[in-house]
Amino acid sequence: MRDSVSMAVSNAGAGTRPSSALRAPSPREQGEGSTLDIAVIGGGIVGICVAAQLAETGRQVTVIDRTGICEETSSGNAAALAFSDILPLAHKGMMANVPKWLADPLGPLSIPPGYFPKLVPWLYRFWRAGNFKKFEASLAAQASMMKLAECEWMALMERSGTLPMLREDGSLELYEGDAEFQASLPGWAARDRFGIGYRHLDRAELSGYQPGLSDRFTAATFVPGWKTVSDPKDFGKAIWAHAERQGAGFVHGDVGLILPRGDTVAIQLRQGRTLSARHLVIAAGAWSHLLARQLGEKIPLETERGYNTTLPPGAFDIKRQLIFSGHGFVVTPLATGIRVGGAVELGGIHRPPNYARSKAMLEKAKQFLPGLKTGGGREWMGYRPSLPDSLPVIGRSKRNANILYAFGHGHLGLTQSAATGSLVRDLVLDQAPAIDLSPFSPQRF
Ligand SMILES: Cc1cc2nc3c(=O)[nH]c(=O)nc-3n(C[C@H](O)[C@H](O)[C@H](O)COP(=O)(O)OP(=O)(O)OC[C@H]3O[C@@H](n4cnc5c(N)ncnc54)[C@H](O)[C@@H]3O)c2cc1C
Repeated sequence: MRDSVSMAVSNAGAGTRPSSALRAPSPREQGEGSTLDIAVIGGGIVGICVAAQLAETGRQVTVIDRTGICEETSSGNAAALAFSDILPLAHKGMMANVPKWLADPLGPLSIPPGYFPKLVPWLYRFWRAGNFKKFEASLAAQASMMKLAECEWMALMERSGTLPMLREDGSLELYEGDAEFQASLPGWAARDRFGIGYRHLDRAELSGYQPGLSDRFTAATFVPGWKTVSDPKDFGKAIWAHAERQGAGFVHGDVGLILPRGDTVAIQLRQGRTLSARHLVIAAGAWSHLLARQLGEKIPLETERGYNTTLPPGAFDIKRQLIFSGHGFVVTPLATGIRVGGAVELGGIHRPPNYARSKAMLEKAKQFLPGLKTGGGREWMGYRPSLPDSLPVIGRSKRNANILYAFGHGHLGLTQSAATGSLVRDLVLDQAPAIDLSPFSPQRF
């Protein structure tokens, strides 16, 4: 068992510090003998934050990932800490756009025809999540999560020394014409109920917030509390460096099987080794349900695939994140370039990417920002792990109380990861969590 861990330990945060594969693993990395204290499957932003929050309490945490730290969905997202984004996706305003969106094969929402039959049960749950009672319950739960999310991120950034990577210049949601603006108002009224600040802008004010926009945009809403990070991949690696300083370790491995065995859980890697842990956190993003299924729990996780193109810095002088809701994409100023993207493709985890989607958004962005230089971009696709009610799963497995789930954050995994880390920490330490976790229960479906 000892060998199984020590052989697999490698430097997850490639680029964060010299290769630890070249040195003997510390007792902490080895789980101090044969059994790890806490294993976290998944080195995306959620797993990293779980590890950081737990390692800060002095617990021994080992992250297991098959690719590395922040190398998958968490590496290329739109970088927003979208604390005001509390509306569950299944709401009337969004539903009204669905027929129009689906009619355009490269539009904001697509479902590959071959995948549709597999998706029907999820779509049915999604549609039901939009009924008034369920919508209101998810809205309140999301608002409580977002309050915690902001608190936890500001505190974790302070403790980890990552505050210089934060941009606090708000966001601008843009509308083409009065009808689109009017249609947005119920959403803003819902946010009013939870004390979220915003300001509607007319065309004259709008130019001051973002010069160079096409005249087709006649109004906007400025949200001052919306924040972004300098680059999600660099940011994730910096949070991981903090977790490592607190003693967290990394095992490079692809988990094939998890087997509860009395007080411990055996974690079998496809590379042939088996680890053992007293606590296991499953934070494997869009692949988490495959592991939960092994424990007899069927969690309706789907993937909303999203696309973007990152242009070189200087492609345009973007003042703050620009949100083109009617077209399902955003433009984000990063330290590493200008990121143009979004869209939802409900296409599962196996299909190859269709980068025509990134190109279509870039083309639109050029119409919206006529001075945008579109050359030299890097295309990317990622898998948003999404539950039908737009809430993540945070809680214990019903099979084994020492196995915890932390996944399904959909469009908001970066935003909610520090809060998720603190909630998982509380569960592992048997402390009362800061918010009611029943709306996030893995058993709610
Ligand atoms: C285009 C796009 C834009 C987005 N913009 C934003 C945004 O602006 N703000 C925001 O808050 N969110 C945004 N998101 C959503 C956000 O990126 C995700 O919610 C978040 O990255 C999910 O993080 P995660 O840690 O759960 O998953 P991941 O980052 O996917 O990490 C999961 C990890 O688990 C590993 N893994 C899986 N299975 C196994 C296994 N069996 N064994 C070992 N390792 C395994 C994977 O290799 C991976 O590294 C966006 C997403 C997309 C696609």
